[in-house]
Amino acid sequence: MITSGFDTIAAISSAPGEGAIGIVRLSGDNALAIADKVYHLGKKKLSTQDSHTIHYGHIVDPENGQEIDEVMVTVMREPKTFTREDIVEINTHGGIVATNRVLELVLREGATLAEPGEFTKRAFLNGRIDLTQAEAVMDLIRAKTDRSMDLAVKQLDGNLSHLIENLRQDILDTLAQVEVNIDYPEYDDVEEMTLKLLSEKTKLIKERIEGLLSTAKQGKILRDGISTAIVGRPNVGKSSLLNTLLHEDKAIVTDIEGTTRDTVEEYINIRGVPLKLVDTAGIRETEDVVERIGVERSKKALEEAELVLLLLNQAEPLTDGDRALLELTQDHKRIIIMNKIDLPNQLMKESLLEWVEEDEIIATSMTTQEGISELEAKIADYFFSGQSGERDATYVSNARHIDLLQKASQALDEVAMGVEMGMPVDLIQIDFTRAWEILGEIIGENAPDELLTQLFSQFCLGK
Ligand code: GDP
Ligand code: ZN
Repeated sequence: MITSGFDTIAAISSAPGEGAIGIVRLSGDNALAIADKVYHLGKKKLSTQDSHTIHYGHIVDPENGQEIDEVMVTVMREPKTFTREDIVEINTHGGIVATNRVLELVLREGATLAEPGEFTKRAFLNGRIDLTQAEAVMDLIRAKTDRSMDLAVKQLDGNLSHLIENLRQDILDTLAQVEVNIDYPEYDDVEEMTLKLLSEKTKLIKERIEGLLSTAKQGKILRDGISTAIVGRPNVGKSSLLNTLLHEDKAIVTDIEGTTRDTVEEYINIRGVPLKLVDTAGIRETEDVVERIGVERSKKALEEAELVLLLLNQAEPLTDGDRALLELTQDHKRIIIMNKIDLPNQLMKESLLEWVEEDEIIATSMTTQEGISELEAKIADYFFSGQSGERDATYVSNARHIDLLQKASQALDEVAMGVEMGMPVDLIQIDFTRAWEILGEIIGENAPDELLTQLFSQFCLGK
């Protein structure tokens, strides 16, 4: 048996609150021994069971023989576990009180309460996953849309890690080649050859890093959603639009603990692109309330919005309210929706061109659904603007990764500059090696302790 040298930790791993079952998870060298102290079914011992098996039984307080709950217990032995340590998962079904009591019992019998993210941290420290994968675990927990889920799953698969490892290998190979050249100084042109090699490799590697960086904007959108405000004066059709979009693509309403205290975030998927809706409460309130606080409220929603869907009623002439909103949204990326085209036209598109570009305008009817798919295409365009929009591309979405990729790119710029200025090769090698080290930080090579603590503390308890 491998002893990891860590305590055995325990936590409730199921979601907080009331649920049909609760899970208490133990990980560490003593996980099975501790579980045996509280598990009861005749003379059966969990510590003698095979790995990856599940067992019925009771949790009993060994001090007073009191039965706490009827349970199913999963036994998983290292190394084929999430943490690469022995893991025991106790599935309780007595609700939150019983689950808490089971946790208290295992803590009393020798387990230590896990810190947030500590299971995942152990998976990392025991070499099962690298840092980008640990970060993906966190993203998965928080994923709000199908696409952000995809993104996290790919990262968990090690997609980004492989790309980074390949880049680092290329740098190492080049450095090795440079060393070989230095060992054979008898060739006259060796200096020139070495500089040429360094400059070519640097260019190629930098191109690949820049390629990854160019996905960052989309990566961020996939992860967080495009924050979108639907604005317009009363009765133009905001609620109807919202319902149409919600109806077409099912809404995902999330209430993630710790990230959005006391607020519910709403997301809609438009052709796979997540929109994070800003202030839908304002749209849903009764019309007279919206009338009263309409423009004020719009102003507030606009502060947060990256994308604005501004509705006008084309069956009525333009009003002062419309003009105010057209001006207010001037600096935003926006789509002007001329709604109610099933009714007689009172508002010419031409009269809007003083405020907006023609290609910002779309005509719709929420009644007949005309123009809706054109609107969706426009929204998707916003996401893919100028990009190919490959579904399988690796997107960089994490701020820490983006920052390090930029630093690596800068180190490579210094290599290129050194070559150009004809600096000594051993000085150039220093910058090249630094690029290799910086890329290593992305996957957690030599990650400093504070970084790990800060990263893993963002996880929920029990993960
Ligand atoms: P909001 O105040 O901007 O949220 O507007 P609503 O979505 O509540 O719509 C106000 C009224 O206009 C409702 O009676 C809707 O049924 C109607 N309406 C919305 N869109 C259309 C449309 O495209 N055509 C027609 N004829 N009526 C619409
Ligand atoms: Zn409404």
